[in-house]
Amino acid sequence: MGRFDGRVVVVTGAARGIGFGTATRFAEEGASVAILDLDESAAAEAAAKLPLVDGAKAIGIGCDVANTESGEAAVERVVSELGGIHVLVNNAGITRDNLLFKMTDDDWDMVLGVHLRGAFVMTRAAQKHFVAQKYGKILNLSSVSALGNRGQLNYSAAKMGVQGFTRTLGIELGPFGVNANAIAPGFIATEMTDATAARLKIDVDDFRKMNAEANPVRRVGYPEDIAAAAAFLCSDEASYITGQTLYVDGGAKLG
Ligand code: NAP
Repeated sequence: MGRFDGRVVVVTGAARGIGFGTATRFAEEGASVAILDLDESAAAEAAAKLPLVDGAKAIGIGCDVANTESGEAAVERVVSELGGIHVLVNNAGITRDNLLFKMTDDDWDMVLGVHLRGAFVMTRAAQKHFVAQKYGKILNLSSVSALGNRGQLNYSAAKMGVQGFTRTLGIELGPFGVNANAIAPGFIATEMTDATAARLKIDVDDFRKMNAEANPVRRVGYPEDIAAAAAFLCSDEASYITGQTLYVDGGAKLG
């Protein structure tokens, strides 16, 4: 028996990175999984790699979470092709880093659009089903950058916004059997942090080593670290936990 047998889980931005790691964990624990990402063929390829348990299905759907029509159509496709929706993981994300004086309107709008508007659009579409069936789990991806990070004004504002969004979802949806929580990862080795290394003109391995040495547990994080916490927070074992943000960062922000 897996914790997610018979459940349908949607993970946005899951063609790679933390999203794919999280989708993999839900599949291992029995769920049917929909991988949503901008590029439908990348989403379908990722879905085909999931380690499904007998009877479970996986699909890949092309979807821009920041676009209302696209997000709503994706949720309806999940419900019709997989027979329902029980868990939504708002993971899709981008960075457009710059110091304030160099940050453009587009850098600001794009980052808030994907992280905040995207989570809003997807959650509003899913909650119709969650409230009607009196069951649902929402997990939002925040970041340690919510606490402030030089060069990430837009991202930091969006990721702290995700925490407020999560708290309010907890209050509004709790009476309907719906839990909403967030995970704030520290440094996780993915293409997103590799891109940061490239921007800073530091070799990827050196960048990971630097971050590992500065971390209390002396290593970087991996998508599996986030996936393990995600599976717990979206499981029925966590049904008395809602509106919370769990920092999964090796203690990076402890001081
Ligand atoms: P990643 O490797 O860059 O993967 C992000 C995925 O999201 C990509 O497949 C990307 O597609 C997709 N995406 C971007 N915009 C989208 C949109 N509008 N609609 C649908 N999909 C979209 O990033 P990651 O490191 O796995 O990060 C996943 C989440 O964790 C993000 O919310 C990120 O902010 C958060 N996080 C990451 C870290 C870290 O250290 N890696 C730390 C804290 C928080 P394309 O490739 O087509 O752009």
